[in-house]
Amino acid sequence: MADPRRAIPRTDTVLAEPPVAKAAETLGRDLVKALVVAAQQRARAGEIEPGEVVDEVLARLPVTVSSLRPVLNATGVLVHTNLGRAPLSPAALDAVVAAGGTTDVEFDLETGERAKRGRSALAALADAVPSAVHVVNNNAAALLLCALALAQGKEIVVGRGELVEIGDGFRIPDLLASTGARLREVGTTNRTTVGDYAAAIGPDTGFVLKVHPSNYRVTGFTAEASIAELAGLGVPVVADVGSGLLAPHPLLPGEPDVTTALAGGATVVTASGDKLFGGPQAGLLFGDTAVIERLRRHPAARALRVDKLTLAALEATLRGPEPPVRAALDADLGELRTRAEALATSLRSAGIDAEAVPSTAVVGGGGAPGVDLPSAAVALPARYATALRLGEPPVVGRIVRDRCLLDLRTVRPADDPALREAVRRCR
Ligand SMILES: *Cc1c(COP(=O)(O)O)cnc(C)c1O
Repeated sequence: MADPRRAIPRTDTVLAEPPVAKAAETLGRDLVKALVVAAQQRARAGEIEPGEVVDEVLARLPVTVSSLRPVLNATGVLVHTNLGRAPLSPAALDAVVAAGGTTDVEFDLETGERAKRGRSALAALADAVPSAVHVVNNNAAALLLCALALAQGKEIVVGRGELVEIGDGFRIPDLLASTGARLREVGTTNRTTVGDYAAAIGPDTGFVLKVHPSNYRVTGFTAEASIAELAGLGVPVVADVGSGLLAPHPLLPGEPDVTTALAGGATVVTASGDKLFGGPQAGLLFGDTAVIERLRRHPAARALRVDKLTLAALEATLRGPEPPVRAALDADLGELRTRAEALATSLRSAGIDAEAVPSTAVVGGGGAPGVDLPSAAVALPARYATALRLGEPPVVGRIVRDRCLLDLRTVRPADDPALREAVRRCR
């Protein structure tokens, strides 16, 4: 009998197959060759037939050269830090692709001269919130820049209930202190009044900092000073609103927003671009013209600046259609239920134990702690959780009372068919 392994196609032969050759052009020859070698090894081990090598290579081709994979977020957590926070809108993704090449980010095509970097993104921000604006790498960078420019060698007065750990062990007080500013803590964990701040203010004060506790809530016997009260103290007030809501949102009554903070008299307001704002990772700074100019001209600003991809995505998020995080927040509960019913019915007809159930979504670490967003989900046997995570595309749900819930508030309606197919493949 002939050794079946002799039938395994040679590397060059597989690489010359038109679909494989095409993949090598877009993904790079090295990456595709490694998949060919792996497929040949599987054939040698008898796991696949020699005739299946080409199909095996094609089945394992990644979507892109980056090993970051597109994931369906069915967790019900709108701003999921581990899943990359806000997904970009299709308009923002297109803008990123266009700006990825050579682009006029800092060039005036009419005059042929240098132009202000990111002017159109900044104009879009200023149109959304009428104030001076600046953009840096993320909200942590925005706070860092405020501390460097306004409080180096001075004091930052901050309430004890607002000494926030952002995540992964990073703490805002440590970040601020790393600039050489001194933190002056006032009040207590649960209660801090305007009088506490007033008593701490003096010639050494750089600014008063108001931080929104975006991932925890202090309830019960509590007190905090408003931005308006703090603005009356005669020193600059920096307000970190966290999530990047530009205006109040009816579903999130406790969530601070940029417009209200500025109207209250904040000198500078900082926020993240990739939480409820729904755009790329960025730190958004709004406020007083002279102070924003000082931040913009600080030497460290250059080290914190954003790239052209961020500027492109930011502008498209502001000028284009509603980004996915906002769509998830604004989704109609009746429609979520209808989608869950349709999905569950279709899965049951494929023999899967699926059921539409009420669910509770949340904004996540990015804001609105303690606020429940009513939602609808498809409940599956718990074993689906792992199978779905390991599928293509990977789907991440959550386990509630021994069932795997796929919450539809964080799934775009356009992704429902992909979600259904992903579940069917796990049957
Ligand atoms: C998330 C958050 C930060 C950190 O923002 P990044 O954009 O992740 O740097 C800072 N402050 C508050 C209140 C936050 O919610």
